[in-house]
Amino acid sequence: MGKGELVPDGIILNMVESILNEEENNSSFIFDGFPRTIPQSEGFDIILSDRNLALDHVVNIEILEDEVVNRLSSRWSCPNCDSVYNTISKQPDVAGICDVCGSELNQRDDDKPETVRNRLSVYFEQTEPLIDFYKNKGLLRTVSSDGGPDSVFDRILGEFSKLDN
Ligand SMILES: [Zn+2]
Repeated sequence: MGKGELVPDGIILNMVESILNEEENNSSFIFDGFPRTIPQSEGFDIILSDRNLALDHVVNIEILEDEVVNRLSSRWSCPNCDSVYNTISKQPDVAGICDVCGSELNQRDDDKPETVRNRLSVYFEQTEPLIDFYKNKGLLRTVSSDGGPDSVFDRILGEFSKLDN
């Protein structure tokens, strides 16, 4: 992960399977950032059909490449208490210092600009093909990432409610 590579498919699928086995009410759930490859989505289909489950929606949040680099490389976190800051949208009171515990903030290896560029090329090669994969299944809901989290959330709900009508 530190180099911007993906965790192997088998490991991810085992994790997903054990999460679904542990949860009691496991017929409603949201996965964030999974699946990331075609083999993961094929494995996920098998895991779901073994449990008589099926996906209702796959949400694709669209963002420009430069904006991804901006947003991720401005993210800093506390190595002591895991608080997360953002030099654009959520600055700590004292630059470089955690508000919660006073530790010095650092940047996750996978949020450094050069690593973010590598994560993007991994995305285009391995994850972007999922857009057509889910479009062909009629599950894809694409929304813009413009504005803050609330705007994106409203847009996603809007896509869902269109389908309920
Ligand atoms: Zn802290």
